[in-house]
Amino acid sequence: MELMIVVAVIGMLAAIALPSFMKAREKTQATICIKMQREMEGAKAQAAFENKWNSSSSFGSLGGDYQTVLASYIKTGSALGKTLASGAIRPICPLGFSIYWKSIGQPVNCQSGLASHTP
Ligand SMILES: [Zn+2]
Repeated sequence: MELMIVVAVIGMLAAIALPSFMKAREKTQATICIKMQREMEGAKAQAAFENKWNSSSSFGSLGGDYQTVLASYIKTGSALGKTLASGAIRPICPLGFSIYWKSIGQPVNCQSGLASHTP
């Protein structure tokens, strides 16, 4: 009988705590995704400066491998760089979605499309 009460109490506590844990986890993932996007913007700005790209540069005219060039501006040892699997050209958000570089005049964005993943 006491064991059943203990199990019931633990179950109730878990039911109360789990939603807030899930919420905290989602918030952390969104924060990481936005941080990654800011680092990508920095890499993009540096690449644009060094390669003399401007907002009127279309990536089509840059030879098509601009994402490879952009990816080379991310430090391989960084948390962001570690999300680039070997040969990948786009970092991966903590939810497993790609983060798109977009063109020079447009901000990078998370494929998840979630408002919480939009800076
Ligand atoms: Zn994301």
